[in-house]
Amino acid sequence: FQRIVLASRPKAEVQPENFRLETVDMPVIKDGELLVRNQYLSLDPYMRGRMSESKSYAASQAIDDTMIGGTVGEVVESKNPKFAVGDMVVGTLGWAEMAVSDGSMLRRVDTKQIPASAYLGAVGMPGMTAWYGLNHIMTPKAGETVVVSAASGAVGSVVGQLAKLKGCRVVGIAGGAEKCAYVVDELGFDACVDYKAGNLEADLAAATPDGIDAIFENVGGKVFDAALARTNAFGRIALCGWIAGYNGEATPIDNFRLILINRLTVRGFIVSEQPELWPQGLGELGALVAEGKLKFRESVAEGLASAPEAFIGLLKGRNFGKQLVKLI
Ligand code: NDP
Repeated sequence: FQRIVLASRPKAEVQPENFRLETVDMPVIKDGELLVRNQYLSLDPYMRGRMSESKSYAASQAIDDTMIGGTVGEVVESKNPKFAVGDMVVGTLGWAEMAVSDGSMLRRVDTKQIPASAYLGAVGMPGMTAWYGLNHIMTPKAGETVVVSAASGAVGSVVGQLAKLKGCRVVGIAGGAEKCAYVVDELGFDACVDYKAGNLEADLAAATPDGIDAIFENVGGKVFDAALARTNAFGRIALCGWIAGYNGEATPIDNFRLILINRLTVRGFIVSEQPELWPQGLGELGALVAEGKLKFRESVAEGLASAPEAFIGLLKGRNFGKQLVKLI
């Protein structure tokens, strides 16, 4: 079967040469282990941090090791009494068509009401990020104005829909007219500002006539700066990501002093910091997806070999919704 390893560390932008596709022998499983055929691989911005040596919230990964990544797939062989052949499992089995696991970090999932791929998006780590950041950090009340950047993406799309269910006025920020139209027309946000249209400050002011009470920040840099400028007193900021700077770009902020003037609460967070909340969060997200109340969109690249280009595209905003790789 095939797998992709980290061949070298990127200097700035990720290049195809930073990855290497390898063919490896089919593994023989031992007692207690199981063999999984991965159906979908999740591509996520955090992988950029793992490729570098510099300190991030997650340890960097070793050269020549299989690239880290979330997966959903089917158990095809089992010597572990907790899993049977045919079970669908979610885990972190990496950029590989097959993987051996001892089962300890695998979760069995029901794919009858929820499609398997959703367990890597709205009912997986990205959805959980949205749920946790919204409910435990932003804590918005009905009627408040909430802004979320990278609004059409895996995390942002869930943030906005959950905030709408809470009765907030929800404004997205996204790159391009097509993404903005989707966010408003399909996801039901009240407005969406296209930061690539060239009038970010004025367009955001028009979309937030009562100012901004809470920001869910995924992008950083100019996008965050524009939202900071619109904050109301005692606003809350859930600082989730800074994708505008993941390749080492400078992302200066002019409006920092507004944190003082508006007495803002800024809280960075990592989705894994309160693992005890995951069962509740994933349960609520799963129910919303099954009932059709939480919508999502996917960009699906075909075949493991397409993963590097799809990942490079994700860091440039070429994805439209959750970026996946379909492996079989
Ligand atoms: P998305 O599906 O939102 O895809 C990334 C999007 O980011 C792109 O589609 C693009 O949207 C936008 N983007 C990419 N590059 C830039 C850039 N240079 N400037 C501005 N926007 C850019 O990804 P996710 O939903 O998976 O992740 C969203 C954010 O959440 C990321 O910052 C990620 O690191 C963070 N995150 C944090 C977690 C945590 O625990 N703190 C957990 C999971 C995710 P557009 O075209 O609209 O610009």
